[in-house]
Amino acid sequence: MALESENFEDIRSSVRALCADFPGEYWRKLDADKAYPTEFVKTMTESGFLGALIPEEYDGSGLGLSAATAILEEIHKSGCNAAACHAQMYTMGTVLRHGSDAQKSGYLPKIASGELRLQAFGVTEPSSGTDATRIKTTAVKDGDEYVVNGQKVWTSRIEHSDLMLLLARTSPREENEKRHQGMSVFLFDIRGAIDNGLTIRPIATMINHATTEVFFDDLRIPANSLIGEEGSGFKYILDGMNAERILISSECIGDARWFVEKASSYARDRSVFGRPIGQNQGVQFPIAKAYAATEAADLMVKKAALMFDAGEPCGAEANMAKMLAADASWQAADMCLQTHGGFGFAEEYDVERKFRETRLYQIAPISTNLILSYIAEHVLGLPRSY
Ligand SMILES: Cc1cc2nc3c(=O)[nH]c(=O)nc-3n(C[C@H](O)[C@H](O)[C@H](O)COP(=O)(O)OP(=O)(O)OC[C@H]3O[C@@H](n4cnc5c(N)ncnc54)[C@H](O)[C@@H]3O)c2cc1C
Repeated sequence: MALESENFEDIRSSVRALCADFPGEYWRKLDADKAYPTEFVKTMTESGFLGALIPEEYDGSGLGLSAATAILEEIHKSGCNAAACHAQMYTMGTVLRHGSDAQKSGYLPKIASGELRLQAFGVTEPSSGTDATRIKTTAVKDGDEYVVNGQKVWTSRIEHSDLMLLLARTSPREENEKRHQGMSVFLFDIRGAIDNGLTIRPIATMINHATTEVFFDDLRIPANSLIGEEGSGFKYILDGMNAERILISSECIGDARWFVEKASSYARDRSVFGRPIGQNQGVQFPIAKAYAATEAADLMVKKAALMFDAGEPCGAEANMAKMLAADASWQAADMCLQTHGGFGFAEEYDVERKFRETRLYQIAPISTNLILSYIAEHVLGLPRSY
């Protein structure tokens, strides 16, 4: 495939202009207060950028994934963090692809306008970890309701969401021929559910991520919360993963570019031993290496996004993009901290904050090992390792 990716310069400059109102001080204050970036998310919602992937017939912008990657990359390149709102952009994909007409027309226009926030996505559980086929949360049909019991962990942004997309077991693992069968996806309104079967407990973390653990105790949700067919939910979640991985890769690329720019600028200005530190090859080579790694990873992100937009299978490319971009951002983060010497540890430079934030991508939404396992098994034909 030719890599004739559009650069979306109009989108990029609009996003940059919006982000200019949210400088380092804004994020530092939120970090210190462990507060959610409400104003930033409001601005992004009102700009319509979070509805980029929703088709025009549902009042979204009807853009492709390549355009959406430009939005997220630019947010991160500006020093901001899209983690507080990126789920609003792509969690709706499960509804769009597998929801009924009533669910699509009922939810999507409101998600596009921001009237409904779909920011919460509950898959991970404490005891099953990456092996999502072993989740224990159950949803049992009872008349025109499902009764949900169990626990999720790392459910981010749920305190700032109106809706939740939930993966739960509707029949036991042992009763299904294949381990991924018997799980279902639900989309439900959490506003009436809190303290009515749904309990949320924030988790203190090394980054300001509004993440929580969630407990379901006989939570009753309407039967029409079910998306698609009962028992096919795991497949629906997998269907959304390529898009998520490609979008997150673009955040990594944005972070990497921010680190490279920040380090280059500091290395030009900071003078020690009577000359700019950037004149030393020991300082400039790691910056140049991080730059080259970022550009290479970006090619894979662009390729994956183009393939996704063309409707081609892109599991391998989406996974490689996520791994290469996360590695590039982490390499750039480490380089940037080193370039700043002791000042890299001072909060006012924002380097330590971005350093902490970008470390997450080695683990979430999928850890590097699992990507390597995917490539080994599905691309190289090696035996499955787990
Ligand atoms: C800040 C944050 C926000 C998150 N937000 C959400 C969210 O909104 N919704 C949600 O559902 N989840 C969310 N997650 C969960 C995230 O997707 C998981 O943490 C991630 O998938 C890894 O799962 P785990 O933490 O259970 O690690 P584990 O599965 O326990 O793995 C631990 C380590 O072992 C390695 N490992 C495990 N199995 C293998 C294997 N077979 N081969 C090689 N290595 C292996 C992993 O790579 C990892 O390094 C979030 C996590 C964090 C930290």
